Amino acid sequence: MSRRPPPSPRSPSQRASPNEPPLRRGTRLVHSGRSDMESPRPVNVPVVRTSTVLFSSTAQMAAVHAARAEGQRTFSYGRRGTQTAHALEDALTELEGGARTALFPSGLAAIANVFQAYLRPGDHVLIADSVYGPVRRVVSGFVTPFGIQHDYFSPGTENLTDMIRPNTRLIYGEAPGSLTYEMMDLPRIASIARAHDIRIAMDNTWGSGWLYNPLRLGADISILAATKYIVGHSDSMMGAVVTTADAWQPLADTISVTGQLASPDDAYLALRGLRTLGVRLAAHQRHATELSAWLQARPEIRQVIYPALPSHPGHALWQRDFHGACGLLTIELQPSLANFVADFIDALRLFGLGASWGGYESLVYPINLSSVRSVDDWSGRGPLIRLHVGLEDPEDLIDDLHQAFEMLASLQS
Ligand SMILES: *Cc1c(COP(=O)(O)O)cnc(C)c1O
Repeated sequence: MSRRPPPSPRSPSQRASPNEPPLRRGTRLVHSGRSDMESPRPVNVPVVRTSTVLFSSTAQMAAVHAARAEGQRTFSYGRRGTQTAHALEDALTELEGGARTALFPSGLAAIANVFQAYLRPGDHVLIADSVYGPVRRVVSGFVTPFGIQHDYFSPGTENLTDMIRPNTRLIYGEAPGSLTYEMMDLPRIASIARAHDIRIAMDNTWGSGWLYNPLRLGADISILAATKYIVGHSDSMMGAVVTTADAWQPLADTISVTGQLASPDDAYLALRGLRTLGVRLAAHQRHATELSAWLQARPEIRQVIYPALPSHPGHALWQRDFHGACGLLTIELQPSLANFVADFIDALRLFGLGASWGGYESLVYPINLSSVRSVDDWSGRGPLIRLHVGLEDPEDLIDDLHQAFEMLASLQS
């Protein structure tokens, strides 16, 4: 059988006819950010490491610098990103449905640069109460010292309009929220924000661009701690900010001041992780759902907090706005077990004890909300423990939880 010679370069962005239907999400996840290479070529965009970029003539250098001055992305200096980072940016831009993407050395760096980019002294920012805890350090270390006002709002609040001031410039949210997974009605908040000319930034680490697309629901800025599911293998740190065309310039200006970049090696790992994001998240959801059902039936458990459960207060919003769920859930133990949290965690063998999540492995982490909530009252609850349900066989994870609960029972008797 003869092989038809492929058109050159063969790339999914070069459709045979403009009338062809757009490619589906799973296909785009595999092919995005790979189209610039000439064939014959490797499957993956290689790691391109450089500081200096060499030009063939002063005229070529002047042309590149002119394009850069116009705001185009250029291969002009290592700090501006090499082909590896540019490929990851393109893939994340497509995943989130945005216009441009900037990479950062961590998720927190991405968050801090968003606050710096979109707020000036005298401005006011509204922040969801359930945001990632270290955002409160950005508030105490940057927002307040630089003369920017802030208020926290309950993510389920009905009266956000009442909290808007004439100088409110940014609404900063996260859906579902960190640790307790509160939903936000983003389309509704976006309609309020638009009426007041306020931008919305959403931390989309939980959804990772695959489960949730804030930019398609009215947000202007989507932040990803790619460290989690996008890298997906617990071996690299990475942050990204994807914006609409309208919101891009303030971020571009801030990056050019703060000199942010992600290393080509880390960009390579994130891009490799991205290719399997869809299948990994589907497996994480399946396993987390299986564990949730088992955990809910345990007498030690007061509540399993997981948006895919019909008992979750934000379940209807999750069904409306999300493509699925990940492997992150929180269990509330019975209040009578408050003194046994450390014993329970130490008894687990398959759940690693450590911060972060989004890798292939299961993790456990004790939660203390006292310093990371200032609006919603979580006092009077049982102890909270976060589980990241990994890709191990869920039956083994259930056996592990079972033996830890049995050990608790023996301690109490
Ligand atoms: C982990 C995390 C971050 C920070 O990412 P790092 O890469 O660890 O700095 C930000 N937001 C959320 C929701 C996170 O879970």
